[in-house]
Amino acid sequence: MEITTVGELLHWSYANLVMAHAANTAKAEKYGRKQFMIRARLYSGLNKQTMNIGSLADDERLKIILPQACCYCGSREYLTIDHLIPTKRGGANSGDKLVWACRSCNSSKCARDALEWFDERNQFSPILLLRCYLKLAIEICRERDLMSVPLAEVPELPFSLGTIPRIYPSPNVLRLWITELT
Ligand SMILES: [Zn+2]
Repeated sequence: MEITTVGELLHWSYANLVMAHAANTAKAEKYGRKQFMIRARLYSGLNKQTMNIGSLADDERLKIILPQACCYCGSREYLTIDHLIPTKRGGANSGDKLVWACRSCNSSKCARDALEWFDERNQFSPILLLRCYLKLAIEICRERDLMSVPLAEVPELPFSLGTIPRIYPSPNVLRLWITELT
């Protein structure tokens, strides 16, 4: 798989995420032919703009079922608000970027990006957190007109393209969220 532009990288990761989510929901042990087809179709559709990512509003609704707990460690104590992708811009959509983080994770994470933080702990981000993160990343790059820019020529971004996963673990080791969802 040759990935040269920002859009290809983000679309590839998103298509893998949708595949991983479907396989994880189906309790599959590993990815099969059907799932690889879902991924290939979505990746190609996103690149050709005949398909689109799910709306951020889906993730907003998700907040109703997510427990009010730190999205990094699951603690329910000393919760603070953290920006999933910190942008200086703020504005009407900034609510989409807000997640719960306990005081301890918030201070140890500091200004680090959420994916960098999981990486350093040798953990793979929970699926639903990563989904929200990728949607935000795609939104930011679309706004800045960066989707067709080669990866080597990207200006500074509020998140790190280097931590966007290209390879996903098998579905049976992935988790939807840091804690059990009820
Ligand atoms: Zn925490």
